[in-house]
Amino acid sequence: MTKSSTLNENAIRPDHLMARSFELLEEDTQRLMQDKDEFVSVTCPACGHVEASSYGTKRGMTFLECHQCETVYGSPRPKPERLAQYYREATYYAYWNKYIYPSSEEARRERIVKPRVERILGFVEQHGIPKRRMIEVGAGTGLFCEMMKQSGSFEEIVAIEPTPSSADSCEKRGLEVLRQPIETVPADKGNAQLIVSFEVLEHLFSPKTYLEHCIRLLAPGGMLVVTCPSAKGFDVSLLRTVADTVTPEHLNLFNPKSLKLLFESNNLEVIELLTPGRLDADIVRKKTMAGKFSLESHPFLKKVLIDEWEQLGEKIQNFLAENLLSSHMWIVARKPSI
Ligand SMILES: [Zn+2]
Repeated sequence: MTKSSTLNENAIRPDHLMARSFELLEEDTQRLMQDKDEFVSVTCPACGHVEASSYGTKRGMTFLECHQCETVYGSPRPKPERLAQYYREATYYAYWNKYIYPSSEEARRERIVKPRVERILGFVEQHGIPKRRMIEVGAGTGLFCEMMKQSGSFEEIVAIEPTPSSADSCEKRGLEVLRQPIETVPADKGNAQLIVSFEVLEHLFSPKTYLEHCIRLLAPGGMLVVTCPSAKGFDVSLLRTVADTVTPEHLNLFNPKSLKLLFESNNLEVIELLTPGRLDADIVRKKTMAGKFSLESHPFLKKVLIDEWEQLGEKIQNFLAENLLSSHMWIVARKPSI
């Protein structure tokens, strides 16, 4: 929010590298959308409801909004095998693994991953979860698993990461890596007291199937922690298809109510739901200042986000985060003890 946190933001997403990464993302999604004829229509990924209104289109992907739970979802969407091919071949992720993650690792460690580790260990302590085996699904370059390992809290830490370049990076950190999608991980690799998954759920063809596999790998009474964007958060609600969060890659944009519904309908007990985001107000401000969004018909927000930003920016963001109004969502749930 302040000048110094803007500088920190640049340390995490360096401007000179981000522009190129966005070009690659655009090219990748264009290639994906060329196969649109083979996409399949789906019902609401949270509640299964059939009826939905049009939400808008982004780079050729049609988004719908469920009449029952207001989840925003891409439909028709690529079949699971086409999605797997997309992530295998995407130049955007290869670019991040080669340039952005290595150059921003120290800033990420401090600003993103350390608070994540602390928050999760807080949940683990608070709910008396035994610290035996932890699995991260979609471990990426393995930074979170490495910092969990350094914390000395869990006896065993396992990274599930099917993307070869990311799995290599996990291995270089000395982590145990399962180089396969969660669907094919055998049950004897499970029995985890804690499973975590950051920013994965929104990318999947079937979040329900994914949760079923997480549950399969959890020990009875085990804890599942998932983060994903909320379509009801401040920046997405305002910007809608102008938001970077609304992209053909993000097929499922839940909200606090619908995410809870999805978890509970899979027989998980939801124990925490929070939106500790830090960036919503700044995202809308930046889109406005770049001329991509107008606050002319929102004079109140213009006052808060532009005219009196230095005095009010951080306060409005804190308000959003504390009232389930940020677009960055966390859910913590438990598998029944039998
Ligand atoms: Zn729904």
